[in-house]
Amino acid sequence: MELDQSEKRVREIYQDLIDVYGKQDDVDDSDGLRQLLITILSQNVADENTSRAAENLFNEFEDYREIEDADTGNLADVINPAGLPETKASRIQRTLKAVREESGDYSVEFLSEMPEGEAQNWLEDIKGIGPKTASILMNFHFDADVIPVDTHVERISKRFRLVPFSASNQKTHDIMNKVVPRELKHQMHMLMIQHGKTHCTARNPDCGETKLRKHCSHYQLVQDGDMDEEKYPPEDLR
Ligand code: SF4
Repeated sequence: MELDQSEKRVREIYQDLIDVYGKQDDVDDSDGLRQLLITILSQNVADENTSRAAENLFNEFEDYREIEDADTGNLADVINPAGLPETKASRIQRTLKAVREESGDYSVEFLSEMPEGEAQNWLEDIKGIGPKTASILMNFHFDADVIPVDTHVERISKRFRLVPFSASNQKTHDIMNKVVPRELKHQMHMLMIQHGKTHCTARNPDCGETKLRKHCSHYQLVQDGDMDEEKYPPEDLR
């Protein structure tokens, strides 16, 4: 199955995902800094643990100033359900410090005054904020022309042959940013996550629904073909 990154195909995939899952939640325009902290909590952890840690965080501390000034060990205890608590506590405090020093308060709205690429780079300069975390804020809060690439988006874009299997996460991010039209980016991200969580899991995907099979190298080679799961993806798709 050839790599096909044409806009026509991307739009077909998008339409089929919409037909299967419907339109997803729109861009969030509430407090961007709160969203950024929740995204840091969500790094490498399941949604329910993120929610518990976020609830603890915003119940325990009165405001952002208190979070920034808190004892890091104490903050780590509060956000413990999110995993990697010490690392994430330091990331959160570094982020709050950087935002306060840049904006004079605890607001990320100054980023809307910068060109999108510059704003993304400003975020990525904070240690512990990578392209995915920065893209989530830029896309969800500022509706920027960037698609966050998490593990689901990466896996599915490869199975759909939009991205070679050998591509790193950064390369996948670069390709998807280029090939997905701006107005589809937010929905495409949300739809691929939905697909990855409900059907297209990393192991034993449930390929019951039909619309998406036609885009999928895994389906064509393994489910509907005679390739062993362990041999997928084959060399020539890498
Ligand atoms: S056919 Fe199966 S492997 Fe392919 S996209 Fe659908 S669920 Fe995923």
